[in-house]
Amino acid sequence: MIAIALISGGLDSLLAANLVKSLGIQVIGLHFKLPSCKLNIKESFPDLGIPLVEIDLAKEFISLIRSPRYGFGSNMNPCIDCKILMFSKAKELLPEFKASFIISGEVLGQRPMSQTKQSLELIKRRSGLGELLLRPLSAGLLAPSLAEIRGWVDREKLLKFSGRTRRPQMELANKMGINEYANPAGGCLLTDPQFSKRLKELIAHDELNLSNLELLKLGRHFRISPSAKLVVGRDEKESNQLVKLAADEDYLFYPNDKIAGPTSLARGKIDQQLVRLCSQINCSYCDISLGAQTDMLYRKMPKEEEFSLTVSFSQRDDFAGLHI
Ligand code: SF4
Repeated sequence: MIAIALISGGLDSLLAANLVKSLGIQVIGLHFKLPSCKLNIKESFPDLGIPLVEIDLAKEFISLIRSPRYGFGSNMNPCIDCKILMFSKAKELLPEFKASFIISGEVLGQRPMSQTKQSLELIKRRSGLGELLLRPLSAGLLAPSLAEIRGWVDREKLLKFSGRTRRPQMELANKMGINEYANPAGGCLLTDPQFSKRLKELIAHDELNLSNLELLKLGRHFRISPSAKLVVGRDEKESNQLVKLAADEDYLFYPNDKIAGPTSLARGKIDQQLVRLCSQINCSYCDISLGAQTDMLYRKMPKEEEFSLTVSFSQRDDFAGLHI
């Protein structure tokens, strides 16, 4: 008997998968890669003797996030719609993996939005999984799933975890020897207030796409016009990442090699006035003194040709109103 276990990377999904495996079921871990996830599942997935399959859900997720049917949680996390999407995709994969049911690590009452009794029912129904869904950590408090009804797993061996406490999970993890795992939200940036603020701003300007979402993960962001943004690298690593993320038509701004300072990426409709503004903002993060003049370099991708513009150093506060 084979089952697919949805793996977020957080502790609960690992416990659920391992518990069902210990009951004699062959478990295949399935991780959906979302553009909002900062976790590298291949690096963080512990060796439980469970094979892991990773599937990219970026495109579907982008369309979902524009207007999720069941709304957002406390930040821009559309958890109910997100789970419905993941669970229905998992259902489609059952025949491919010759699996008979799906395992999820949800715990009744653990999260205010997506794990109330009502939400758990809604997700089960709207994903089309119905009785094919087993939630082993709270199974004793929920209606029996097909795996229990048919006796594939012994309901008596399943658990009755509920509420927000994490102690039972920690104890079980100890017993199972699972010591390393990601935070409970599995590294989802949509639960982060600052990331959510930037995402809202992006959606309001109708600029949501995968490439712009990647950019949101790094740098300081400035709205320099209704149709253009500047992202300033916060350190060398981010500056290098911005160069890698630069697409055709984007502009890169950077100091000459006598001055220490970041690289910035501008995207959108950039005219000469905005080139000056971007150069000034980038200059304000360079290591020079107030009022000093310097040449900022810039180029328009994908061309290698560099231009230079002389700007005076201004304080960062002068651009605070543009900061997102
Ligand atoms: S925390 Fe993020 S990944 Fe997890 S269900 Fe919510 S939106 Fe989806």
